[in-house]
Amino acid sequence: MNFTDRDRAVRAAVAEGLVGAGEPVVGLLDIAGIRRSAAELRAAFDEFTAPGTPVLHAFAVKAASLVPVLRVLAQEGLGCEVASPGELALARAAGVPVARTVLDSPAKTRAELREALALGIAVNADNPEELARIDALMASAPSDAPLGLRVNPQIGGGSIGAMSTATDTSKFGVGLRDEGAREWVVRAFLDRPWLTRLHAHVGSQGMPMELMTAGVRALYVLAEEINERAGRRQVDTLDIGGGLPVNFSSDAVTPTYREYVAQLHATVPGLLSGRYGLVTEFGRSLLAKHGTVLARVEYAKSAGGRPIAVTHAGAQVATRTVFVPESWPIRVAAYDAEGRPKTGAPVAQDVAGPCCFAGDLVAENRPLPLLESGDHAALLDTGAYYFSTHFAYNSLPRPGVYGYAADPDGTVRFATVRTPQTLEDLTAESGGAHAESLHDLGRQ
Ligand SMILES: *Cc1c(COP(=O)(O)O)cnc(C)c1O
Repeated sequence: MNFTDRDRAVRAAVAEGLVGAGEPVVGLLDIAGIRRSAAELRAAFDEFTAPGTPVLHAFAVKAASLVPVLRVLAQEGLGCEVASPGELALARAAGVPVARTVLDSPAKTRAELREALALGIAVNADNPEELARIDALMASAPSDAPLGLRVNPQIGGGSIGAMSTATDTSKFGVGLRDEGAREWVVRAFLDRPWLTRLHAHVGSQGMPMELMTAGVRALYVLAEEINERAGRRQVDTLDIGGGLPVNFSSDAVTPTYREYVAQLHATVPGLLSGRYGLVTEFGRSLLAKHGTVLARVEYAKSAGGRPIAVTHAGAQVATRTVFVPESWPIRVAAYDAEGRPKTGAPVAQDVAGPCCFAGDLVAENRPLPLLESGDHAALLDTGAYYFSTHFAYNSLPRPGVYGYAADPDGTVRFATVRTPQTLEDLTAESGGAHAESLHDLGRQ
């Protein structure tokens, strides 16, 4: 049998007790893999952009809101795209410089905007009202922060409605095809010499590459139009968002960053010609393939003739997969009690989680070697938006997360990314300090 680094990490995690009776579920991150993806992203843009083109790859923090991961990405030359005060705090805790931080969010408060402008963080305004707030802030305390406007090219949605941000009625950005909107956008720039960036993020998972490049093309054409009308290169940077889809059905990475940038090069050559600086905001495509949720099988049972493995990984770590399984199917790999890949004839079975609702299944009727109590189920490709985006159902604690790397001799080393949440943490987070607070409220 050919062991992958993931197989070795699973075996070592079981041997070291990172997962076991006390900690029945854990998140594992392949740190060498993350570094490799970051390098591939940089290399793809380096290959197709004119020498000297400024390019900032800002990792979308929501995809893996874990400080040590942001730090590794910063080491690899990436910045952060943040969308809340919490995400900004994580980026700062990771030591990501403000010059490598971009703030996008549809609901920035005045205080958030004031702070970002004071720090010099790049901000993309989402809508006319937000731009008016920025006008007021710029009038009272001019800032050198790079400022942009998010637009929605309204080029249509992908295969997952909730992930499609370029439909006619998407909540993000200024809809370019709405009546009068394009002219409004051009005027917004002509009236504000400090507005120098355009931003679009047309969707995540489920967007075909053709639609993504069409969105970027619309952004580029708009920038050219604004600059033409301004008579100068007022728009100097294009933020093209993230959204490269991930293949959840095998270990293959497809599409690759190189394929995407090659397609951008073919459809929007001016984009990479050096006339514009670039910002990207990839999330899922940098991390997904490098994460594994590893959970113990607590019980094996059957119902209606179908075997069910009751594991400790369900909606709390695989929220989207459990609630919208048709859009977010994931692969499950079976490992035995010692963490060795399970062999044996595939048997169609359900892989269930620990949550108290019937739909808490990460895989339904899935052919796998029959899981038994004490075995382990591994949810693959879960490095982005899974264990970093906990859902606190049933007061299930956030699992520990560990980074790993395999030495050439096969030895696996772990480092703590996040310690498991304790029951004390959980109680405190759930109002534990206020147990008596309702005692006299509402009594006759
Ligand atoms: C979520 C998001 C991203 C990242 O999307 P991925 O699909 O994870 O690459 C980038 N930019 C914005 C504005 C986002 O909301």
